[in-house]
Amino acid sequence: MEDIKGQSFKLKVERLEFKVHGSTFKSSLTNSLTLKLSFFRFLASQLPSIPIIRNPQSLVDTSRRLGQAAIRIRLALCALLLAPCLFVLACGTPYGVYHRVRPGENLFRICKTYGVTLQEVAELNNITDASQIRAGQKIFIPGANDQLTVILPEASPEKEKEEKVEVTSIPRKEIEKPEKPDKIRLQKGLFDWPVRGNITSSFGVRAGKNHDGIDIPAKGGTPIKAAAAGKVIFSSDEIRSYGNLIIIKHEGRFSTVYAHNRKNLVQEGELVERGQVVAEVGDTGRATTAHLHFEVRDGKKPRNPVFFLP
Ligand SMILES: [Zn+2]
Repeated sequence: MEDIKGQSFKLKVERLEFKVHGSTFKSSLTNSLTLKLSFFRFLASQLPSIPIIRNPQSLVDTSRRLGQAAIRIRLALCALLLAPCLFVLACGTPYGVYHRVRPGENLFRICKTYGVTLQEVAELNNITDASQIRAGQKIFIPGANDQLTVILPEASPEKEKEEKVEVTSIPRKEIEKPEKPDKIRLQKGLFDWPVRGNITSSFGVRAGKNHDGIDIPAKGGTPIKAAAAGKVIFSSDEIRSYGNLIIIKHEGRFSTVYAHNRKNLVQEGELVERGQVVAEVGDTGRATTAHLHFEVRDGKKPRNPVFFLP
């Protein structure tokens, strides 16, 4: 305990570094789980007199007895739990409701009712054409608590007002404009297929879980190509469920993610060309068969890769 007193902890967003009497703890924040385990191991090695720390609660209990040091440990723990990760690559439980489309409803109206963007709903539900939706279809609405009733144009007081205006002077075309669905934005060809094949698992909600990318099965060893030119910002097997993983940062806000690779062929910091082979298809991490799990991220936000592929 005395050894820790007066020592400072240095916390950064990308990397965590501790110094306690010459011993250094360093870890990347790209994997919060690994970070926590190694952090506990580090603490255990630095505090031989305390029992082995098995979980955060026991860490807090133990730290309570450590006076001054405890405050720092708790602070560090909070920082660990709250620190923004570069990528949270775990599959989260989606938050939202399924809306069952009723006759006369369109995607634009549905999105307006729930206050969500057409683009987000389109991507989550793999709808590239708003006219595709049919009565009876279930559409996942992110962030909603309950299914709402969509006010149809006929019953809308707004529309009545518009119709009154129409009588005076505004041409009909202009009045109908707001009723037309927004365009779903496709950026086909912004990225190339990293591996050719059928998508066996699409983007969006899958069996009650978020799937932040698409799965493309291919024979083990099949070359994986960079979807666009960029810089490799991650090449490691540190995130266990993703196995060998590569993240390429592209121009602008986009990055692409390639997971379950048998082998990564590029290193962090390397610049890659569009179409350059960066890895081989495999089944490392949480995968039952050889396939590529491919993600497109806009900043941290996962986007539907299909909207960007030719
Ligand atoms: Zn996947």
